[in-house]
Amino acid sequence: MQYNILKTPIEYLKGVGPAKADLLKKELHIFTYQDLLFHYPYRYADRSKFYKINEIKSVDVEVQVIGVITSAEELGQKRGKRLVAKFRDATGTVDLVWFKGIKWIKNSLKLNTPYILYAKPSIYNGIVNFAHPELELKAEADKSLQTGLQPVYSTTEKLIQKGLTNKAFARLTKALLPQLKNQIQESLTEDIRIANKLPPKESSLFAIHFPTNQEQLRWARYRMKFEELFFLQLNLLIQKQVNQTKMKGYAFPRVDYYFNTFFKEHLPFELTGAQKKVLKEIRSDIGTGKHMNRLVQGDVGSGKTMVALMSMLIALDNGFQACLMAPTEILATQHYNGLNNDIGDMPMRIELLTGSTKTARRKEIHEGLLNGEIHILVGTHALLEEKVQFKNLGLAVIDEQHRFGVAQRSKLWLKNKKPPHVLVMTATPIPRTLAMSLYGDLDISVIDELPPGRKPITTVHRFDKNRLKVFGFLKEEIAKGRQVYIVYPLIEESAKMDYKNLDDGYESIKRAFPLPEYAISIVHGRMNAADKEYEMQRFVKGETQIMVATTVIEVGVNVPNASVMVIESAERFGLSQLHQLRGRVGRGAEKSFCILITSYKLSEDGRTRMETMVRTNDGFEVADVDLKLRGPGDLMGTRQSGMLDLKIADIAKDGPILTRARDSAIQLLKEDHNLSLPKHLIIRNEYLKKYRGKMQWSRIS
Ligand code: ADP
Ligand code: MG
Repeated sequence: MQYNILKTPIEYLKGVGPAKADLLKKELHIFTYQDLLFHYPYRYADRSKFYKINEIKSVDVEVQVIGVITSAEELGQKRGKRLVAKFRDATGTVDLVWFKGIKWIKNSLKLNTPYILYAKPSIYNGIVNFAHPELELKAEADKSLQTGLQPVYSTTEKLIQKGLTNKAFARLTKALLPQLKNQIQESLTEDIRIANKLPPKESSLFAIHFPTNQEQLRWARYRMKFEELFFLQLNLLIQKQVNQTKMKGYAFPRVDYYFNTFFKEHLPFELTGAQKKVLKEIRSDIGTGKHMNRLVQGDVGSGKTMVALMSMLIALDNGFQACLMAPTEILATQHYNGLNNDIGDMPMRIELLTGSTKTARRKEIHEGLLNGEIHILVGTHALLEEKVQFKNLGLAVIDEQHRFGVAQRSKLWLKNKKPPHVLVMTATPIPRTLAMSLYGDLDISVIDELPPGRKPITTVHRFDKNRLKVFGFLKEEIAKGRQVYIVYPLIEESAKMDYKNLDDGYESIKRAFPLPEYAISIVHGRMNAADKEYEMQRFVKGETQIMVATTVIEVGVNVPNASVMVIESAERFGLSQLHQLRGRVGRGAEKSFCILITSYKLSEDGRTRMETMVRTNDGFEVADVDLKLRGPGDLMGTRQSGMLDLKIADIAKDGPILTRARDSAIQLLKEDHNLSLPKHLIIRNEYLKKYRGKMQWSRIS
């Protein structure tokens, strides 16, 4: 095989050497020429425009000025010591100031010689000045033929200390690129490039580092974003293809006693059109023996649980067991009680398994699962323990997926000879682009309709100081027979402060709502499961009118009589959490309210979050804003963000590119499902390079 220059160790690059190479590896994981090539600039300094001194007005942007230094003197004593130079052009004079490296800089400055200055101005005592500006002799700059847009690279303190500044990176890259000429393999076919107007890979990579103009840069970035998203999607689609064609699932053709009896005698309401549609999609998956991997998206309160239950009943009708996994103990318990309640006297054994299930009980459950006496197991991730083995698990439902890692999802598969069908339900909607990237290997169903009779929730934003007024409103609602949630944030890092806030809040609520007229429940993370359950039940039964809680009630709690959700320090919650909390009310026939209480001090993000909540009840809209504010990593939690470790594309902003890339990948696989055509070799090679050793490929080819 031909020697691949891209794999050359970075120490061989002129200007690097072993010491710097070590640091590059440690600090930025740059091991080879290729790694440096893909260390993209994170922004560009626009050096195409020159300012006159009298044009400098804003202090927000960097400016570039041609002028000469007329004098330079050291001023001040000790810590106040500084070097001040006068910099002049035809229109005026500004100060340049240095606080460090004074001697050295003073000696290197050339008086009355044209310089190009590039820096962000600041204003001190009404005079424009530049602190530690970038200066380059104009003659030098002319020689190096710099283009208008200069790359700015990320670097680290340690690298800078060794001289690897942003500028040094630009120099290294500049030295590297000529050596790579005609060495960079194209990885997209001409068909795809033409159809999507993508420039060639090599010129794109070169232009990303040293663009000649904005237009060229835009296309270059477009090309590399497309490529990144294309391979991400290709991988997901290949996995999906493997799931569907190579992996046989159990066939559940029968709809029998369990489903029909439930449907006729126990279903407490008419299913919504959307629920019926999704159930049909599920049935057509599992009815035929295709392996189901389906994501059910639906807004809070859209009735995902019922869809899950009825799907599990189909598994039972075909002689299989089912399980339902939830992210918290409270939610698992709630599901367990809910399911038992729903099925009434139907002869079925449902069991609950969580972290706090006692050993003796655990053993009984393990046995019941193995001999098939247990029909449905509900639980937390305790279900994933190796000891938990089923006789014949046919369907696994995962509720509120975003708290589970993708790896955990696949653990479920190991519980059987054949993987059970998997149904994933999200807690809150996920924006389409994110769903495509995180769950691109799943089929997606959307429950886009709420059960009838729901009154929209009115959301308002109030400041701390109006809390007494809010309490007054709560009293009116309680007088009408309603119940109220009051939720406090609990962030692990500041747990101590948070518990203090919770305690203080609880005290003041007790004072404002005294016994015997009012009774209050409290639930938080430091209580044991039995106490939590006791307090929850008091509220569920209506013995208490107020539920004070941390976010442990965030998911799943269902008390239709509760009509007000008060969220304290609402600015500290993320949007999807706020939306999820709000979804706890508005489940009964009464008009419901969500009251967001914050301090006056709100960040811009915080304000946007409050405004979004007040403006809309639509979870999909909330999710879109959330993605824009936080980016995909934060949104899905660190565990899953690894999957979206994108170098240049941005899921929040590059939705249209993502859609095109996915369409191209779909098209490609339609034409050549295992990329065996010679013309697709370059794609196949790139794919294998990126996803080498992944079992998916070995199964497909
Ligand atoms: P989520 O989708 O947030 O998990 P749930 O499954 O908890 O929502 O359902 C919310 C509430 O709506 C529950 O009280 C449930 O019984 C009720 N519900 C579900 N489907 C319907 C329906 N078709 N008609 C009326 N109420 C329904
Ligand atoms: Mg739910």
